[in-house]
Amino acid sequence: MSDRRIVVAGASLAGAQAAQTLRRQGFEGVIELIGDEAHAPYNRPPLSKKYLAGEADYDSLRLRSMADPAELNVDLQLGRRVSGLDVGNQTLQVTSLADAATVEVSYDGLIIATGARARRLPGVDLDGVFELRTVDDADRLRAEFEAGPARVVVIGAGFIGAEVAATAREAGLAVTLVEAEEAPLQRVLDRDAGMAIVDLHRGHGVDVRLGVGVQRLVGEQRISGVELADGTVIDADVVVVGIGVIPNTEWADDSGLAIDNGVVCDATCLAAPNAVAVGDVARWDHPRYGLIRSEQWDNAVEQGSFGAKRLLAAWTGDPVEPFAPIPSFWSDQYDRKIQLSGVPSDNVEIVQGSLAEQRFVQLYIDGQGRPTGALTWNRPRQSMQARMLLDNDAELDEMREALGG
Ligand SMILES: Cc1cc2nc3c(=O)[nH]c(=O)nc-3n(C[C@H](O)[C@H](O)[C@H](O)COP(=O)(O)OP(=O)(O)OC[C@H]3O[C@@H](n4cnc5c(N)ncnc54)[C@H](O)[C@@H]3O)c2cc1C
Repeated sequence: MSDRRIVVAGASLAGAQAAQTLRRQGFEGVIELIGDEAHAPYNRPPLSKKYLAGEADYDSLRLRSMADPAELNVDLQLGRRVSGLDVGNQTLQVTSLADAATVEVSYDGLIIATGARARRLPGVDLDGVFELRTVDDADRLRAEFEAGPARVVVIGAGFIGAEVAATAREAGLAVTLVEAEEAPLQRVLDRDAGMAIVDLHRGHGVDVRLGVGVQRLVGEQRISGVELADGTVIDADVVVVGIGVIPNTEWADDSGLAIDNGVVCDATCLAAPNAVAVGDVARWDHPRYGLIRSEQWDNAVEQGSFGAKRLLAAWTGDPVEPFAPIPSFWSDQYDRKIQLSGVPSDNVEIVQGSLAEQRFVQLYIDGQGRPTGALTWNRPRQSMQARMLLDNDAELDEMREALGG
């Protein structure tokens, strides 16, 4: 296999993990890791937390899996965008962002790891309005926070919006958090847990507005306010838009891949012959949950590794199992560590602590009385335990007993 070339499109968490795994699995051929950012692969979670707060520096973001590309013999190409793909001919178009020159690159194996980008508010081009996805975004936002704006308005109370609000508040800034839904995170958690996050923020002095959308952003060249659908105008010096992400797939629109809210793959992450998709961009057929796309750090690491092995297995003939992890996610807000293992459901049972204490373990249960997930607040050990139990198809009583003590 030493004469084969594997191209990894997207040089971030999932792509770097895949490249490292290829070497760990003994692949001796060429690995090209191509990324359109100017930075070597780095971790995004601190961007809304310690890095934004100025408590972590740039070096601490660097991914250990790609600490030394030369030692791994990985050809890391930054500032280059994969701009086209032909899965039939196994060729890619790669465009330099420096001079727009495009070259054709052929591959024996392709790992698609182009992730996702922050969704923007349409038609908004005002200074002082930010999304947060990249370290460059975080640097700009951090500089604004350090300048001491009179009020920060965060649009969208998803995890990233909520974390930015917490970081801004802890920096002593006045913060308004605007959420169009009656309760935040209803698709990700249950209603009461979403409202517990609202209480957490209100308890720290954030002005949380629920059930009201944004009508328009006000300002000439720079933002001066946010007009809500009910006509209220909130003064704003800085606005952070946290309204979700869009998978980066446009470059593959005419490739022959199935694109539908991500790169659609089979249960083993195979998207086309000799091509796998991993991380935030991959929408694969999970044996438990059907077609899903994950936007979670743990998944990007695990799927990056899995995808690399899957690609090699096509050549070695090794058996391939479906990729079937129990999803898991964490969010740090103030002094709370919020963790979800598995998936939520409408039926909830608190087995330890209480929402009022903001320290609890709760189980999600399906219509047949089986546990589907566990949400923990400041209970990291129980969160890990829950993930293992769910992975072992534990019964409800077993989970109650293990996590309730
Ligand atoms: C601010 C923030 C906080 C987060 N906090 C948490 C958290 O607390 N817990 C958690 O579980 N998850 C968190 N996440 C999510 C986690 O970081 C992502 O799930 C993870 O980064 C996904 O990795 P990825 O490699 O699949 O995609 P990405 O990290 O999106 O990387 C994709 C890379 O590919 C590049 N790219 C895109 N298109 C092309 C192209 N055509 N050619 C070349 N390169 C391309 C992109 O620029 C990017 O560098 C957070 C994310 C953000 C932004």
